[in-house]
Amino acid sequence: MNTREIEILDDISFNLKPEQVITRMRLRHSNPQIEAIVRELLEQVLPVAHPKAVYIASWVDNKDSFSVDIEGARFTSRVLSKNLTMFKRVFPYVATCGCELEEIRISSQDMLKTYCLDVIKMLALGTAIARLSETVTKKYTLGQTSHMNPGSLADWPLPEQQKLFPLFGDVEKLIGVRLSTSSMMYPLKSSSGIFFTSDTRFESCQLCPRENCPGRRATYSTEMLEKYLG
Ligand code: SF4
Repeated sequence: MNTREIEILDDISFNLKPEQVITRMRLRHSNPQIEAIVRELLEQVLPVAHPKAVYIASWVDNKDSFSVDIEGARFTSRVLSKNLTMFKRVFPYVATCGCELEEIRISSQDMLKTYCLDVIKMLALGTAIARLSETVTKKYTLGQTSHMNPGSLADWPLPEQQKLFPLFGDVEKLIGVRLSTSSMMYPLKSSSGIFFTSDTRFESCQLCPRENCPGRRATYSTEMLEKYLG
């Protein structure tokens, strides 16, 4: 039986203006047809969208240079280990755009509409993560926080999610996110990871050399790479 204190956030309000979606679509040019598609989709999405998140407030129990132990699970990552100190407050989490948006069916031929819905789902997931960050920061009076996700760096690969999910018990029952044996999350627009306090903001992108990544949140730094993995 799981006795950890599991917090579920399922009252996350989500609202979007067409301009926000169009900006995030990063189109070279918008036009009235695209704007009409976005408006039409938002009319379908907003009444049913239900982004959610689940987290636990925990501590680092043990660590060495290559791994950290949290709630009896051993996570293997040099970068995670460098970011966490013994007895540091940590918040393992799973967040999602919500399975309600998976029910919206669009013809696979309609590439533009499919892309637009994908962007809306990403924005719903972003809203869930922002609310989660705001909640733990306020509730536990934290200063600067950062987070890491299995799969964002080769140093902490995707299969590490198989250790993260059991910390919450049945995540599918709690917030509708299913983890496959190949470590894919469904809905696809879901995210799992660990929030932690940090003196300065940490982003995995600082250690990731991938060029032209549309999701990049921080500049790649060879000094940071040397500091963490040198
Ligand atoms: S640069 Fe892109 S691929 Fe690399 S960690 Fe950041 S978001 Fe992920």
